[in-house]
Amino acid sequence: MSDCIFCKIVSGDIPSDKVYEDDLVIGFRDLNPQAPHHYLLIPKQHIATINDVDQGNEAIMGRLYTAAATLAKELGFDEAGYRAVMNCNGDGGQTVYHVHLHVLAGRQLTWPPG
Ligand code: 5GP
Ligand code: ZN
Repeated sequence: MSDCIFCKIVSGDIPSDKVYEDDLVIGFRDLNPQAPHHYLLIPKQHIATINDVDQGNEAIMGRLYTAAATLAKELGFDEAGYRAVMNCNGDGGQTVYHVHLHVLAGRQLTWPPG
């Protein structure tokens, strides 16, 4: 998707502070962090929203969580805890239409979310 900012981050056209990469997924720091640790894990393939996920990309979506667990262990917040959350469409608070798993850590997070 030529007009997608996260596709441009995948291609390197927009710089990012990368913290994770494998064959299916990259992870980078959120530009506007909401916690001491705030990363976005995204598929290299463009998928706009959770509504566009199907059986053909289950492996990719599963990998986002494997990557979150790996990152949490590497950065040392796995035991303290973290939140891994994906927003969908307007009411879900999605602003970038390329699916991304937010990984937030480093403070006590509240529930329910706002
Ligand atoms: P959403 O609101 O769609 O769930 O989350 C989008 C996230 O992407 C926001 O937390 C926002 O700060 C982050 N973001 C938007 N544009 C950029 C960018 O160009 N670079 C990075 N690193 N993060 C971005
Ligand atoms: Zn995209």
